[in-house]
Amino acid sequence: MDHSKRDINEASLEANKMVSLITKNEQDINQEERIWIAQSTYENFENHINKGFLEYRKSVTETEGIALTDWTGQGSILKDVLGREFIDMLGGYGLYSPGIKHPKIVAAAKAQLERSPQYSQEMLDPLRAHLAKVIAKLTPGDIQYGFFANSGTEAVDGAMKLAKMYTGKKGFISTLKAFHGKSLGALSLLGKAVYREPLGRLLDGVRHVPFGDADAVEAQLKAAEEVGDGIAAVIAEPIQGEAGAIVPPDDYWPKLRQICDKYDVLLIADEVQTGFGRTGKIFGVDHWDVTPDIMCFGKALGGGVIAMSGFFASAKLWKVLEPNPFMHTTTTGGNPIACAAALAQISVLLEEDLAGQAAEKGTYIKQKLAKIQELYPEVLTDVTGRGLLLGMVFANDEVGFEVVSGLFKRGILIAGTLNNSRVVRIEPALNVPYPLIDKFLVELEDVIKSL
Ligand code: PLP
Repeated sequence: MDHSKRDINEASLEANKMVSLITKNEQDINQEERIWIAQSTYENFENHINKGFLEYRKSVTETEGIALTDWTGQGSILKDVLGREFIDMLGGYGLYSPGIKHPKIVAAAKAQLERSPQYSQEMLDPLRAHLAKVIAKLTPGDIQYGFFANSGTEAVDGAMKLAKMYTGKKGFISTLKAFHGKSLGALSLLGKAVYREPLGRLLDGVRHVPFGDADAVEAQLKAAEEVGDGIAAVIAEPIQGEAGAIVPPDDYWPKLRQICDKYDVLLIADEVQTGFGRTGKIFGVDHWDVTPDIMCFGKALGGGVIAMSGFFASAKLWKVLEPNPFMHTTTTGGNPIACAAALAQISVLLEEDLAGQAAEKGTYIKQKLAKIQELYPEVLTDVTGRGLLLGMVFANDEVGFEVVSGLFKRGILIAGTLNNSRVVRIEPALNVPYPLIDKFLVELEDVIKSL
């Protein structure tokens, strides 16, 4: 069958069929329809998304029979379209910090959907303005103004534009194994060849130094000054996520602040993954009481309900965007549903003390993992991270893969980190219940024992 041929009639039939299933009550979807959804999802991935994913995703390769199809969930439980349940220890790569479908966040988004899902682009939108104020109150120091977008990579690109405009310089210092997103701007900062090399020349003037080494940053700034290369900003994740949940030395961020002030360059904290409670504080930089010049947010900002991101900075920096506010715009970023979800997310974050929960549960898991490591030091070689951004370092990639697939077969969803395949992340919802954590730990030990 030619899957690329134009067929408007088929487009209409397929769209209508799926819309009728989407709008059906869950209990009214019969088994035949469920199997059709699962099978057609596989085929559509194969023919219209990317066959590569089918060889890579454990929901396909480690599942007997029909591949798992994401369908619904609640809290820390995910359910596939055929009703198969998984404990979610992955949290959508940090997206589901308040859990899947947190009732307060869903209610806010639903109510806003009914009132006005998008905005006119002309009248002043109240939710965006209010959310910016709330985030200004939540962030450290003099951070006051913000711009909202849809994805983390857009937040980073926007931060880069602001840094360039404010300083009039083009260079950046980023870190090895850093992950800042995959649009061309953010990709220039990413610290691993595999995602950069095939694209040839990226943004000029980006230098990479080892993460956690403030002296290396200073050496680069000195060198750049000597040869006349302007550096706009130093950018880093407070705790590197995709590199394997790497916590820097305690003096790293305070030193970065001092060095950036000394050389008159901006400091950007990419909090896309660490923000909103994930590491046990509201923001990652809060561990070291540092105020960056620009902060980037994403993932959990939308409460696991809707795509939402943003970058924030002080009034001093924002001045450069005022003469022509159209220098940086987006039609859909910061739409009213996303803002409603983000406001509710922040309310939940504070009401449920999600940061405190992350700190406590992270310590609990780390203590238990230390015992497992003591028993099986040749398998589990280290545990990294803070709060509920944790990494289990396995002896090699194969062992890491075996653990992930073993857990998968036992109904627990977990995955590796993108820039370090030896490290398997533990990144559940911050309010994940203790009995689910314990079940995960028991199954983990069982899998490791069986290796
Ligand atoms: N920055 C950090 C620190 C991230 O971890 C990620 C995603 O993992 C991004 C940026 C990119 O976010 P997105 O995938 O929403 O573009």
